Amino acid sequence: MSERYDVIIVGAGPAGLTAAIYASRANLSVLIIESGVNGGKLSKTYEIENYPGIKSISGLELANQLTEHGQKFGAKLIAGEVKKIEDGQTKKVILANGQDYEARAVIIATGTKERALALEHADEFTGRGISYCAVCDGFFYRNKEIVIIGGGNSALEEALYLASLAKKVTIVIRRDVFRADASVIDRVKANEKIEIITKHVPEALVIEDDRIAGLKIRNVETDEQTVVPCKGIFPYIGADPCTDFVDESILDEKGYIKAGPDMSTAIKGIYGAGDCIVKDLRQVVTACNDGAIAANSIIKYLKD
Ligand code: NAP
Repeated sequence: MSERYDVIIVGAGPAGLTAAIYASRANLSVLIIESGVNGGKLSKTYEIENYPGIKSISGLELANQLTEHGQKFGAKLIAGEVKKIEDGQTKKVILANGQDYEARAVIIATGTKERALALEHADEFTGRGISYCAVCDGFFYRNKEIVIIGGGNSALEEALYLASLAKKVTIVIRRDVFRADASVIDRVKANEKIEIITKHVPEALVIEDDRIAGLKIRNVETDEQTVVPCKGIFPYIGADPCTDFVDESILDEKGYIKAGPDMSTAIKGIYGAGDCIVKDLRQVVTACNDGAIAANSIIKYLKD
């Protein structure tokens, strides 16, 4: 017999953990399943300074506090990778290890995964020259030259962190405009250790003695190629939703979950929340908002 819960929450990021707080405070039995690190992407973020009421906090610290808070009212948190959700009178959530759990409602709050750099040998050098986590790996590049690819909030915020460790940080963007928030752009532009190269795309890894020695980039207007010497490359070129296991009927063409204002989907009892749903603004605060709404909708749904 599978263990049964009122609600299963897939993903222990800000959306999932907030949903857990709200649902368990309403006396629902809650199981949270997380395949990676508790706190999600937050735990890999150097600093959060736009979460209201907390002027500045390390991502890891906020992730730890949320993880603790998410379990405070009785929600159970386990490690596991969800492979499938079977629809029926109850929802059966099946893990990669074959274990399954049942619930009356499910919240999918799995967030997004960083897009990988599509260059030859990039996989081979991930973890030894290419990194997607400045907080985890930045220390290895202290006093060295680093290249960051991308101009969104992730790229620029982590550039500021890496500039505090590295000798030099070069940001390469493919247009001449950033996607990041204006305040971060201003700080990046004012940082003497950061150089910005616009209208260039990554072309090839430069490898010497089996190590990253630079990044060859191409000017998108002239096709001219140049090499930026560096020991480390941090690609922050966007992210894709972690929804491989989700029924396609509730996904948009990019794989994001189509959830309504109450976070419900077209499948009764299945809800979406956080970065993995179709939305305009992906922030910790908006993820928490979704989690609270999803839990509240389920509280009403289970009463009916
Ligand atoms: P993003 O905002 O989608 O930015 C991706 C960047 O990578 C853009 O500059 C994009 O260029 C570039 N890019 C994409 N594909 C590329 C390619 N193949 N080659 C070269 N460059 C490429 O991604 P993100 O920074 O990871 O952020 C994801 C979401 O999380 C956003 O909604 C963001 O606001 C949010 N976020 C928020 C915070 C915060 O509020 N503190 C922190 C981190 C992330 P183009 O602009 O030319 O497309």
